[in-house]
Amino acid sequence: MLFNDIVFGPIHSRRLGTSLGINLMPAKYKVCNFNCCYCECGFNQGDLPKNVSLPSINQIVTALEKFAEKTPPEQLKKINSITFSGNGEPTLHPDFAEIAHMVSLFRFQYIPLAKISLLTNATRVGREEVQNAKRHLDNLILKLDSGTAEQYKKINDPAVCNFDKMVNNLIRFGQGSIIQTLLLRSTNPEDGIDNTTTEEFAAYMKILRQIKPKQIMLYGIDRETPNVNLVKIEHEELENYANRLRFIDMKVEVY
Ligand code: SF4
Repeated sequence: MLFNDIVFGPIHSRRLGTSLGINLMPAKYKVCNFNCCYCECGFNQGDLPKNVSLPSINQIVTALEKFAEKTPPEQLKKINSITFSGNGEPTLHPDFAEIAHMVSLFRFQYIPLAKISLLTNATRVGREEVQNAKRHLDNLILKLDSGTAEQYKKINDPAVCNFDKMVNNLIRFGQGSIIQTLLLRSTNPEDGIDNTTTEEFAAYMKILRQIKPKQIMLYGIDRETPNVNLVKIEHEELENYANRLRFIDMKVEVY
C-alpha cells in the first residue's frame, strides 16, 4: 500500500497507538535503500520519474496545519504519536533535521502530549542530519531483522549498507533507542528466509547485547507482503523469543 498524501491517518498502530503519519516521500512512489521482502509498500520500482520530487519543508508544514485546522480538538487530543513513516525511508529526505524541528514546533502548538516517532531502517542513523534531528524525537525506532549478513541480504536486500557497517552503526548510535524486529520465515526453501533459527537468533541476541537498546519491539507480519511465501509467526511463538531476550535483561514488547 502506498500513501497519496504527506499527512495520513490518524491510524491505529499496534506499537504506537493512535498515530498521525508523515510521509516524506512522493505520493504513490516508494523511495527506500532497502527492499524488504515484507515491505507493506511493495518491492522497489526503480528510479523515480523525472517530474516526481520529495515534498518540500513548506509543503509538509502546510499539510500539517491544514490537518490541525480541520480536525476537532477532541480528536487531536487522541493522537499518541506523530510518526515519520510512509512510502519508504524517511531519513533519505535531505531536509530531515529541519523537518523534525518543524514537526516538533507543530506538536507543541497543536498536540503537545503526542510523541514524535521515527521508524527507520537505521542505515543513516550515524549521519549528521539524523543526529541533529534526534533531539526532536521521542521514539527513535531502529530496524534490526537479522543476526547474520546472509539473512540481512535475504530479508532486507539493502542497496548500499553492508551488514558490518549497519551493525556498527547500531552499536555506536543505537544505545537507548528502540529496536524493531520482524520475525518471519518463508515456506519456499529457495528463498532461504528464516530469522528464527537457533544460529540466527543467537547471533541477533549477541548484537543486541552490544547495542543496549532501551526496548525491543518484536512482531510478526500483519498485512499482505510482496513475497507471498512468508509465514506469520504467531503471538505465542513470538512470546517464546521475547522470553529469551528478557532472560538477558532486555525489555521486550510483543505485537
Ligand atoms: S526499510 Fe521499511 S520502507 Fe524500506 S523496504 Fe524495508 S519495510 Fe519497506
